[in-house]
Amino acid sequence: MSAVEVRNAVKRYGALAALDEVTLAVPEGEFFGLLGPSGSGKTTLLRAIAGFVVPDSGEIRIDGQRIEGVPVHKRGIGMVFQNYALFPHLSVFDNVAFGLSVRGVPAGEIRSRVAEALRLVRLSGLEERRPRQLSGGQQQRVALARALVTRPKVLLLDEPLGALDKRLRQEMQVELKLIQRTVGITTIFVTHDQEEALTLSDRIAILSEGRLVQVGPPAEVYERPATRFAAEFLGEANLFAGRAEAGALRTPSGLAIFSALPLPPGREAILAVRPEKIQLADLAMRAPDGANRIEGRILRSIYSGSSIAYRVEVPGQELTVFEQNRAARAREEGAAVALTWAPEHSIPVAP
Ligand code: ADP
Ligand code: MG
Repeated sequence: MSAVEVRNAVKRYGALAALDEVTLAVPEGEFFGLLGPSGSGKTTLLRAIAGFVVPDSGEIRIDGQRIEGVPVHKRGIGMVFQNYALFPHLSVFDNVAFGLSVRGVPAGEIRSRVAEALRLVRLSGLEERRPRQLSGGQQQRVALARALVTRPKVLLLDEPLGALDKRLRQEMQVELKLIQRTVGITTIFVTHDQEEALTLSDRIAILSEGRLVQVGPPAEVYERPATRFAAEFLGEANLFAGRAEAGALRTPSGLAIFSALPLPPGREAILAVRPEKIQLADLAMRAPDGANRIEGRILRSIYSGSSIAYRVEVPGQELTVFEQNRAARAREEGAAVALTWAPEHSIPVAP
């Protein structure tokens, strides 16, 4: 049985469908990443799972049980919001203890469970502090402890690291994953940060305008994006649009792009190629048999330390190519280059 099941959930605000027939199942113990641009419906979906937003149609189950009519504190969910929503006038201890107090848990048990939760998020010793006496990262840990202390079946995190600076964010990512593994709790994690989604999630869902575009393990969604949107939102993608012929796509400017994957003959199609799959070489370089090879000219390079991104002009369009920073210096602007890649890296995507 899935820990969380959403079936055909629809939520409209006026003419806008914030959730448009969303169906997904999250198995027990999974770390499920929900990724999408601002306004795509991530928070609405999370709040619907928590029962704070009631869908117009469709159904939501936690542990097989419909959540309608079940009071919030009995739904078995713990939630962490982007802005922490800690009680500023309460100590760390009382913030974490809050959910247990309202459930009438005896004082002795509250003490031991709060201590256990604070140990888990490495905040033991800070029980008496107020939220404003803590760093952003510490406040976020309090929020996490507060969500975990009630031992929910499902943890719902809405951009929990969004307010932290990059370093702290990366530290907390590692820690969050560790805590999730330790507790083994089913987690749905909302982010608009693609790298965060890729590194943390067992599976990723990409949301666009209230619809689930694609769901799968990070590598699968990255390597085989289903749609143009998925290809461009998760990572970068070069797109070739044209007419499909036997085994190749022909662009209006005359490029022939080969794909190892089937193309619909005689129809318009789009191929996506990730920038790091393309190799740059001198014009003298011949491509291996069956590989793609097109010629272009370096327009500019963007240096980013470990790698260099090149904008390359090819007939009819520009491409982005990532190259590891192995050479002593970047390729010169204006240089003519050959671009090669294997046909299995030309991925047909839906428009
Ligand atoms: P995300 O979390 O992905 O940024 P949201 O779920 O917050 O997106 O919002 C999805 C869409 O629904 C947005 O267009 C937003 O403006 C709209 N929306 C969300 N909540 C409400 C509401 N209570 N009333 C009206 N529109 C809303
Ligand atoms: Mg949101």
